[in-house]
Amino acid sequence: MRIGILGAGQLGQMLALSGYPLGQRFVFLDTTGNPSADIGQTLVDKNNARLDEFLSQVDVVSYEFEHLPVELVRQIEQHKPVYPSSRALQVCQNRGLEKALFTQLAIPTPEYHLVDSQESLQQAVTALTTKHQKPVVIKTVTEGYDGKGQAVLKNDASQAVSEVWQKIGGRELIVEAFIDFVREVSIIAVRSQTGEVRFYPMAENHHVDGILRYSFAPLPNLNAQLQAQAEGYIQALLTELDYVGVLTLELFQQKNGELMANEMAPRVHNSGHWTQNGAATSQFENHLRAVAGLPLGSTAARLPTCMVNIIGKNGDVQQLLSIEGLHLHLYGKEERAGRKLGHLNLVAANSEALLAKVETVAKRLPQAPLPKFSFVE
Ligand code: AMP
Repeated sequence: MRIGILGAGQLGQMLALSGYPLGQRFVFLDTTGNPSADIGQTLVDKNNARLDEFLSQVDVVSYEFEHLPVELVRQIEQHKPVYPSSRALQVCQNRGLEKALFTQLAIPTPEYHLVDSQESLQQAVTALTTKHQKPVVIKTVTEGYDGKGQAVLKNDASQAVSEVWQKIGGRELIVEAFIDFVREVSIIAVRSQTGEVRFYPMAENHHVDGILRYSFAPLPNLNAQLQAQAEGYIQALLTELDYVGVLTLELFQQKNGELMANEMAPRVHNSGHWTQNGAATSQFENHLRAVAGLPLGSTAARLPTCMVNIIGKNGDVQQLLSIEGLHLHLYGKEERAGRKLGHLNLVAANSEALLAKVETVAKRLPQAPLPKFSFVE
């Protein structure tokens, strides 16, 4: 089967690496001019002139990033099956639609207001800070990722509101109540073309400056009820969207234990990279199985696993690989501040041994922050 992928970054590369053993072959359509997948065939198409060529070479289409024109995906759907659908893409790339869907499906999410002017921004900040006595988080409705296009305000002082509008405004923004979370978690699920659904165990995610640094799964203190609650939320989304492929839901866990949905991604996700070495079937393989109409694989965790992102600078490969149970996944990118260059997965027999390895790695990786997990005193 020939799989067409819109986008040609590291997620596409890892999809292809998982798909080759299934007999799949890959054609990437890159509209940025900066493809990095470096596997299969890549069509660089900055001027939207090679779509026919792309479509003639593939049986089914998926995508590896969500900042794509929905119109392009709708156009492709006229010719080839696209999984996940253009509707899923449309919802996931717009925080307003995403939040409305959470609300429609009774999935708890921070209280929010959509605004499109400095005046309405001011009103929303005043309303939420007064009601919750907490800061607010302001985000662009579209385009934002890895904490870009975001601001936090502690109160409704008009000068600060005006500065935020100057910096990220001039377009639709969402203002959310700040959640005092105990930890950030994510759940990843996969749904097949026949509607079969499998869930991975939740991961705890440690972000610094909006960028994911560590994902730990399965959680040592995960209770079955919490996992079931997250599964219920993501199942509702999968059913409503008639979804095919891997879906990721990022959530905040509050002090009282309850979960609140933050956002979702219609694709394989950085917080699921641990599955490459820690689960029976990786998120990449399961996504491809779903897209290709194949039976899904087991999502069971094999051993406690921690994914560590390699950002900005590569570590010393000799030193890293001398750590037992370390699996390296480098994307073949040039070093650049803030750039995701690769990740590594650490696997150990138990959580204590795993934490010790994570600490060793954090010391050996240039610029890695100290790992912090909610379950460590
Ligand atoms: P996002 O792009 O929505 O994933 O936001 C990036 C990061 O900002 C999240 O991973 C959180 O650490 C933080 N954040 C986003 N929204 C909120 C919120 N409503 N309350 C507290 N922290 C937030």
